Amino acid sequence: MSEEGDEIVLQLADPPNCPRCGGPGPVSARFPHSWTKASGEQVPGIREATLCPVCDRDEPAADKLLAFFAVHKTLKPSELETFHSLSAAWVAVARARHVDQQQLADEYERSRNGEL
Ligand SMILES: [Zn+2]
Repeated sequence: MSEEGDEIVLQLADPPNCPRCGGPGPVSARFPHSWTKASGEQVPGIREATLCPVCDRDEPAADKLLAFFAVHKTLKPSELETFHSLSAAWVAVARARHVDQQQLADEYERSRNGEL
């Protein structure tokens, strides 16, 4: 993909655990994400989201993708189109949520470092 700064990478093999609850999920996505510091400075970066059966429950796009994984244990070529449209919808939701996730990730880091 060559769309400037908008490359989304899905990871199906051994995705990282959910950053919110630490549980496993069937897929994760990495996407460009910039955020604004308190100073107003723009910080470009990459964010990662894991589709989580616990945290993402009741979110329609996530539910559809989770349902897809529940039915399709492996991804067949004929199902790629469905998978792509479902995952694109979920990634769009995950990206819209990035501010809270950034905050949670920061808090997680701080709690790991014993600062909380
Ligand atoms: Zn979770």
